[in-house]
Amino acid sequence: MLRTKVSDMKTENIQPLPFQFQSSVHDSNVIVERTMNPQSVSSTQENISKSKIKKIPPELRREKILYKLEPLWYKRLLLRLQHDSQFLRSVVQFSFVFLCIWIGIEFYLFEQWGASEGVATFTQRPPGAEGFLPISALMSLKYWFQTGIINDVHPSGLFIFVAIVGIGILLKKAFCSWLCPVGTLSESLWILGKKIFGRNFTITKWIDVPLRGLKYLLLLFFAYSIWQMDVNDLQAFIYSPYNKMADVKMFQFFAHISTFALWTVIILMIASVFIKNFWCRYLCPYGALLGITSLLSPLKITRNKETCIDCELCTKACPANVKVHKVTKVWSDECTSCLACVEVCPVKNTLDIRTSLTRTKVPNWVFGSLIVGIFIAVTGMAIVTGHWQNNISKEEYLKRFPKIDNQMYQHNRGQVPHYTPED
Ligand code: SF4
Ligand code: SF4
Repeated sequence: MLRTKVSDMKTENIQPLPFQFQSSVHDSNVIVERTMNPQSVSSTQENISKSKIKKIPPELRREKILYKLEPLWYKRLLLRLQHDSQFLRSVVQFSFVFLCIWIGIEFYLFEQWGASEGVATFTQRPPGAEGFLPISALMSLKYWFQTGIINDVHPSGLFIFVAIVGIGILLKKAFCSWLCPVGTLSESLWILGKKIFGRNFTITKWIDVPLRGLKYLLLLFFAYSIWQMDVNDLQAFIYSPYNKMADVKMFQFFAHISTFALWTVIILMIASVFIKNFWCRYLCPYGALLGITSLLSPLKITRNKETCIDCELCTKACPANVKVHKVTKVWSDECTSCLACVEVCPVKNTLDIRTSLTRTKVPNWVFGSLIVGIFIAVTGMAIVTGHWQNNISKEEYLKRFPKIDNQMYQHNRGQVPHYTPED
């Protein structure tokens, strides 16, 4: 295994400053003395924290694997996946984006077939598209709990929803920063903004806090609406013509987007260039739900305050604006388990993801593998048990496609349009 010397550590933000800091760091029996030249402090106030990393002794420094020196490409790749959490996360994120693009292309071909009333070549509808119907999935979940029935209209949507909530309960909001394609787009936009303008912007706390509440209000609205529905209401919605074509309607919404919706998307994207994860932070009800489930997670980003040198690199790296260097455990509902803070911490065994009770360290690559593993396991279970494909036949789709603009397929302000068994 290849290991760095201290000087090779990933400390791009760690530059020696013209002063020394005096404090002590305790790790086991090690006491490290550092000295600071007070004359230099005033001129470099904003860089004080950087100075604190200057003299971490070698035995306390986090090791970095020099995978670049490995001659075999696959070993190099494996080493990097194992030891660079942000590289692993990017690989997972963009794999998931490509999966979604593939689903989008398949769905486009399916929609073309339906819109041509069967003239175009038939392409199987990709069930993964149901992952973009979370409200329908929430109703399916309640219906499942109340009746024991996994509906055959959007069964894969239900399993994808269960996988995401399961990840939320076990691994905090990891779905947002590891799998969600909207999260990946948001992150790409603020990184772009940082490259163009040299920085991102934060909204002042007294506006930020109430704005963050908006996503919870949206979640409350959906949850309360579904909570009020009894079994008959749920059944009426789930088996309605509207819900049967909800994935097609959603695709057509974006394929033939209205001017108003397009401007809304453009404004959200522009806001995301300036403010990190604007949509996720303020408006996404899915993120709100996962923020709540994350509180149940047995894993937490945990800081060892005995060895922490208060360099604040973790807080600076955090895209969720969590003050990591001030807490011993990150409980914030905004923490997306991106591990960016863990990756930058320069001190060994100081900032890690650990189990709450036993404080057992979970290696970053294990954490990433768990996210992907849970998602594949739950969706795989749907495939194995025959709950992946829906039960709507080609003939039924061909009957419904020509009528898709009829009143029966309109959202109708949340009310299910009246329909008969023949519809
Ligand atoms: S606290 Fe750490 S893991 Fe959580 S969002 Fe911030 S950087 Fe990511
Ligand atoms: S926990 Fe944060 S403040 Fe403490 S040493 Fe690590 S990066 Fe620096």
